[in-house]
Amino acid sequence: MRAVQLTQVGKSLENTNVPIPQIDPSDVLIRVAAAGICHSDAHYRAGISKINRLPLTLGHEVAGWVEEVGSNVTDVSAGDRVCVHYLVSCGSCEFCVRGLEQFCRSGQMIGKHRDGGYAEFIKVPGANAFPLPDEISFEVGAMMMCSSATALHALNKARFKARESIAIFGFGGLGFSALQLARAFDCGDVYVVEINPAKLALAASMGAIAIDARSADPVDQIKEATDERGVDIALELIGSAKTMRQAVLCLRPLGRAAIVGLTTESMSIHPYTELINKEAEIIGVSDHLATELPPLIEFARSGKLRFPPETLRVVDLDAAQINAALDALQDSIDHVRTVIKVTSDQ
Ligand SMILES: [Zn+2]
Ligand SMILES: [Zn+2]
Repeated sequence: MRAVQLTQVGKSLENTNVPIPQIDPSDVLIRVAAAGICHSDAHYRAGISKINRLPLTLGHEVAGWVEEVGSNVTDVSAGDRVCVHYLVSCGSCEFCVRGLEQFCRSGQMIGKHRDGGYAEFIKVPGANAFPLPDEISFEVGAMMMCSSATALHALNKARFKARESIAIFGFGGLGFSALQLARAFDCGDVYVVEINPAKLALAASMGAIAIDARSADPVDQIKEATDERGVDIALELIGSAKTMRQAVLCLRPLGRAAIVGLTTESMSIHPYTELINKEAEIIGVSDHLATELPPLIEFARSGKLRFPPETLRVVDLDAAQINAALDALQDSIDHVRTVIKVTSDQ
């Protein structure tokens, strides 16, 4: 089968021909219809995030048709449309038995620790294949499995409740999903903090209160707009110490700041006046859980989570096109996602 692989860290991906994977009794073989191209993939290619084997087929945002099922798989059948949960976990360690598989002792990420979806076929455990309703395109089904799933996990980790107000720092792919999901949960006012005029305009057109961080301190602006009270929830999706601190400072009493963006910088907080006094919480957010995918898929099926055609760019399963998309990703955070269309019909 055709695959696009990383053969050397720091080098371009290459077109290769590899055998179709042999499945074990607990696996399914999926004919890939679409695979999303993600910032993480650019990091693997550049060597910023370490991978442990080469050559490696990248791609952790995958949707397609079940081609073949192992003898132990009962939840899906050949021909089913499915999307893939990217974390393969053991199911039996102390974390897996508590439904916290993102900490699995032997967890493997698809497209990082094992071959991913930049290929005509992928094998995954049957437990990682989730039914994809006909209303959701393969392109959206693939892409949802990463940024939208993380946005939902962030809201869940922040214990977001109906009518709570929310400030979203950063309106890229995560923020685009987070705003719609907050709406699906019947949120109160939503503030979107950005410096990019086009993203501010898009957020406003989707009903958010746009906070232009170039014009004044976003914390002051949010405080002013909320009668000095602040917001219940803040999501930090950018990955900078400055905006993480702002996310904490804009909270009202009992507010929760969910930190999703990655940085190696340190952030400073005055414990008494900025945290303890208002019993605020700072919550780390990492990946998502398999149990969060069925509700996420239902939000998309019912149209509460939407990705209009202009938010998706499509390329072929071709190394040159994929490398160009990865180059473009390296220096932009956009709500437009690029998806590889691998097979258009069965
Ligand atoms: Zn991703
Ligand atoms: Zn485990």
